[in-house]
Amino acid sequence: LFETDPPPWELTVGEDVQLASIVFARSPHGPYDYRIPDDLLDVLRPGMRVGVPLGHRKKPTPGWCVSIKTGNAAQQKLRDVAEVIDDEPLCDAALVRLVMFIAHYYQVPAGQVFDTLIPASVRDNAGTRKTTYFRPAPGLTEEQIAKLPSKQQSAMRFLIAQDRPMTAAEIAIMAECTEDPIRRLRKKELLIPEVRRELSQNIRIRAQSNDGEARKTHELTAQQENALSRINSAVDSGRGRTLLLHGVTGSGKTEVYIQAIEHVVKQAGSAIVLVPEISLTPQTRGRFEDRFQNVAVLHSQMSASERHFHWQRIRRGEVQVVIGPRSAVFAPLPNLGLIVIDEEHDTSFKQDKQPRYHARKVAHARAMALGIPLVLGSATPSMEAWHATQTGHAELVTMSERVGNRPMPDVQLVDLRVKEERGKGGAISRPLHAAVLETLKEKGQAILLLNRRGYATTIQCPACGTVCACPDCDMPLTHHRDGGKAMCHYCDYTIPTPPWCPACRFDGIRYGGLGTQKLEMEAKARFPDARIARMDSDTMKRAGSHQRVLSEFRAGEIDVLLGTQMIAKGLDFPNVLLVGVINADSALHFPDFRAAERTFQLVTQVAGRTGRGDRGGRVIVQTFTPEHPAIQAAARHDYLKFVEDEMVNRKKFNYPPLGSVARIIIRGPLEDKTESVADAIVDRLEKARDLLKAEVRILGPAPPPIVKISGKYRFHLLLQATEAAVVGEVIRRGLADFKVDPKEEIEFLVDIDPVNL
Ligand code: ADP
Ligand code: ZN
Repeated sequence: LFETDPPPWELTVGEDVQLASIVFARSPHGPYDYRIPDDLLDVLRPGMRVGVPLGHRKKPTPGWCVSIKTGNAAQQKLRDVAEVIDDEPLCDAALVRLVMFIAHYYQVPAGQVFDTLIPASVRDNAGTRKTTYFRPAPGLTEEQIAKLPSKQQSAMRFLIAQDRPMTAAEIAIMAECTEDPIRRLRKKELLIPEVRRELSQNIRIRAQSNDGEARKTHELTAQQENALSRINSAVDSGRGRTLLLHGVTGSGKTEVYIQAIEHVVKQAGSAIVLVPEISLTPQTRGRFEDRFQNVAVLHSQMSASERHFHWQRIRRGEVQVVIGPRSAVFAPLPNLGLIVIDEEHDTSFKQDKQPRYHARKVAHARAMALGIPLVLGSATPSMEAWHATQTGHAELVTMSERVGNRPMPDVQLVDLRVKEERGKGGAISRPLHAAVLETLKEKGQAILLLNRRGYATTIQCPACGTVCACPDCDMPLTHHRDGGKAMCHYCDYTIPTPPWCPACRFDGIRYGGLGTQKLEMEAKARFPDARIARMDSDTMKRAGSHQRVLSEFRAGEIDVLLGTQMIAKGLDFPNVLLVGVINADSALHFPDFRAAERTFQLVTQVAGRTGRGDRGGRVIVQTFTPEHPAIQAAARHDYLKFVEDEMVNRKKFNYPPLGSVARIIIRGPLEDKTESVADAIVDRLEKARDLLKAEVRILGPAPPPIVKISGKYRFHLLLQATEAAVVGEVIRRGLADFKVDPKEEIEFLVDIDPVNL
C-alpha cells in the first residue's frame, strides 16, 4: 500500500526547489515554470534549450531556459523539466537579458527572439556530427587488463599508451582488430564513452577573399585623427557611450573604424561592424581582412554549415572582428569591446518580419549593458541619431572634409517642369544626356540612379510639380485605380482622384511610374556605343551577380551603371565622373513621414559616389520640385540645413524622433471580417489609452499602399505619442489576451518604431 509513489506535490511540501522559467517559440509562449529534477540540477543553465511537458502533447516540447530560481513547486503543482538539449548555453547571461529586453520592447514572444538570436544552423548543429570517443575506466588495474582476452587486451593497451580519448575506429586500426572487442570492453564498462560534436570533415568553408584592393594603412587626416581619439577615449572610459560619426562621403570613416578596432584588439577585445547587406562587397571585406587576423564575415549567402562554423569560432573567442548585416548584432563574441554601425541611417537595419527589431536599438542596449561604446557612422545620419546628439544621448563627432582635400562634387538641379530641359520625352533630360556623352568621351564612368520602389502611385502635376496631399497628416495621397480614389494611408482621408491639378488646373495630372528596365532600354538606345549594366533586385537575384557587376565596373568594363538605391551605397570607384539622379522626387512623395529624409539621404549618398578620384566629379539631379528643402539641402551638401528644416516638420505632428510611433497590421482573407477585427483592436486600444490617461493618437484603420497581398486584406493602425514607453504600454494593455477566432485566419502584428510605412 505504501509503496506507490506519493504525488509530487506531497513530496515537496514546504520544500524549496530549483525552478526553471521556460519560454517557447510557438504558442503558447510562456514563460512557464518547471521543477528541475535532481539529476539536471548541475546541468541546466539559462540560455540552454530544454524539452518539457506542455499541455497534452506526448513528446516534450522544446523551449528556452531564461532563468533559474528557488521556489515552491508544491503550491503550483509544477511539472519536471524532461531533458536538457544543449551541452553548453547557446547564449550567455548578457545575451539572455538582451533577449528579454527585445521581447519586451518589441512585444514579441521571447522564444521567437531566441530563435532569431541563435541561427537555425546553430540550433540544428549544421555541418557537424556526433562522434563517440573512449577512454579507459578510471581505476583500471594491470591485473584486470591481464585477465582480458587477447584482442581486448591489446586494444586496451594501445588506448592507454596513446593517453588521449580515441574513437572505436582509431583504436581498431592501431590494434589491428575489428571494433568488436571494443564493443565488448564498453559493455563491461571498462571503456568510458564520451560523445563530442565535431565539424564534419567533408564540409567546405569557402575562403573569404577580397577583390584585390591594395593593402595599406593610411596616415590619418586631422579630422580622422580627432575622430579616432574620441572613439578611443570612449573605449578607454569603460562606460557605455554612443558616438555619432557624421562624416561626409569620402571622409574616410572606414579607416577610423579600423584603427579604433585595432585599439580594442590590442587590449584583447573584439568588435562588431554592422553594414547594410548590400555594401558587404569584397571591397569592404577586403579592407578589414587585410588589417585583422581573424575576421568573420557573415552574409546571407552562407551555407548553414558555414554559418554554424563561424558562430562556433566567434563564440570560442577566435574572432577579432565580426562584419555582417543586421543580425550580426547578436554575434556571441566574448570580450566585446566596440560596436560600429556603418551607414547607420540605412533601412535594412530594421527587420521587416517578426521580431521587427532595429539593429541600432539592439546594439545600443547591448553596448550600454556591457559598458562599451557604440559608434554610429553616416554621411546622412538618421533623424533619430541626430536628435540623440541634441539631447545629450550621443556625442557628435564631425568629419566635414573629404580625404586628400578632394572637393565635394558639384550638384546641378534639372527642373523637369521646364520643357526645354526635359528634352524630347523619356527619362533622360537634355543636360543629363549631354553630360553622359561628355563622360564617355573622357573615358570616365557614369552612375544613373532610378529609385523605383514600385507600388504607390503618387498624384503629381507635371506642369507645376504639385503633389496632392492629405490636409490632416500632410502625407501624399495615393491613387487607387479601382474606384479612382485618392487616399491618405495614415488616416483614411479619401477624395475622388482630381482630374486636373488642384493648384494650377493643368489637366494632364500623372500617376507614378517609370522603372529601371525601361530606363535601361532608353539608355541603350541613346548611348549605343556605351557598355551599360543594370543593377536592381531583379538582375541581382543570382548569388554573386552583385559582386560580379561591381568587379566589372571597377575593372572599367562597364561605362554606365544604372540601378536602384543599391548602387547608391558605399561604392568607392575613383573613375566615376558623373552621377545622374533620374527622378529625385520618387522617394519624396511616398506616403511616409520619412519621405524627405529618404530623399535627402538617397541624393546625398549617390552624389557621394563621384569625385573620389583626381578628376573630380559632377552630379545631375532631375526633379519636378527643385525648390523642395530636402533636394536643395542635398544639392548643397548641407546636412545641418536639412535637419533644421525637417525637425520643424516632424514637430508639427510629433513624428519621430520627437515622438514615437507604432504600427499594427491586421491581415485576413475576408475584407469585412478583417476590418471588424481592426475596429475591435482600435476599441481596445482606446479603452487602454483612456484607462492609462495616456496621450496617444490612434490613426486608422486605413488600408496600406498595397491593400491585398497574396490573397489577404490588410489594414493598418498607427499609434503615436511623445514617449515610446507610453505607446508600448497602451498596446500591451490593450491587446493583452486579445484573441481572434483561429477559424477566421486573421492575424495582427505589432511593429514598434516602423521604418517603412
Ligand atoms: P567614407 O566611408 O567616409 O565615404 P571611405 O572610408 O570609403 O570614406 O574612404 C574613401 C577613400 O579614401 C578610400 O579609398 C580610402 O581608402 C581612402 N582613405 C581613407 N583615409 C585616408 C587617408 N587618411 N589618406 C588617404 N586616403 C584615405
Ligand atoms: Zn491623412
